[in-house]
Amino acid sequence: MKRPSRHFIRLAAAVSAVLLLGFAPAPSPSPSPSTVPAYSIQAIRYGTIRGFPVSALVMGAPEEEKTDIAMVVWLIRGGGHNVLFDSGFHREVWLEQFPTADYLRPDEAVKLAGLAPEDVTDIVVSHAHWDHMGGIDLFPKATVWIQKQEFAYYTGDAWQPGGKHGGIDPDDVKALVQKNVDGRLRLVDDDGVEILPGIRAYTGARHTFASQYIRVAGDPAFVLASDNCYLYRNLAERKASATFSEADRAANVKNQARMIELAGSADRVVPGHDPKQFEKFPTQGRVAKIR
Ligand SMILES: [Zn+2]
Repeated sequence: MKRPSRHFIRLAAAVSAVLLLGFAPAPSPSPSPSTVPAYSIQAIRYGTIRGFPVSALVMGAPEEEKTDIAMVVWLIRGGGHNVLFDSGFHREVWLEQFPTADYLRPDEAVKLAGLAPEDVTDIVVSHAHWDHMGGIDLFPKATVWIQKQEFAYYTGDAWQPGGKHGGIDPDDVKALVQKNVDGRLRLVDDDGVEILPGIRAYTGARHTFASQYIRVAGDPAFVLASDNCYLYRNLAERKASATFSEADRAANVKNQARMIELAGSADRVVPGHDPKQFEKFPTQGRVAKIR
């Protein structure tokens, strides 16, 4: 039998090298802990709505019970990003409908945390309601992150016959579309998507068509719930927030349990409108330091 030529041996070596490289394991896509910035998290209170019915916040609560709710945006800073979770509101029509005590426009409120409005790099919008998406036009340089289905629904079917748009301001929707045509909008496609290193969005609680909440990684991690969990009482009593439809209440309760799991403790789930977050965490004036 003929021995293989030197040419054949060189060729075989080259082929095996290509095969080896081709089958080499790809580097892990999840960032190592060192690539997640040490984010700070602050809650900034821009107003208070007094005497709000608890039954509209905690399903099944007594009709006559009232509470004062905090109007809040959250600021997450780290890794060169200044991220707002929700943007508050400023339109007169809502101030008339929901008289807000100690109201301060959200861009002014953010200054109290030492940040100029034009330095907000990102706004993660939990959902399209007036008091959460209504401030996106106050932060001119920010990129807005919203769930793809939330964007599609409230710029489309919500305004068609049979659509639901309670609590959605048409001017906010126009501002959202403006952000998109300006190249300052990112659509978050579904559940468990990492928006920025260590900041991940979750869906399924269905406060609106496709509301989202976020987990901020770190030591320790926190979950910012927005209206997917209005009050600490929702968590304690395992009661749903108001949801897009009655059929979604079970999904909301299930997601509140998931929030506790994702945060590692119910103490580290921050509800959307609970004034207790300004007692639980060290607070100066309108600003609480969550982490
Ligand atoms: Zn709200």
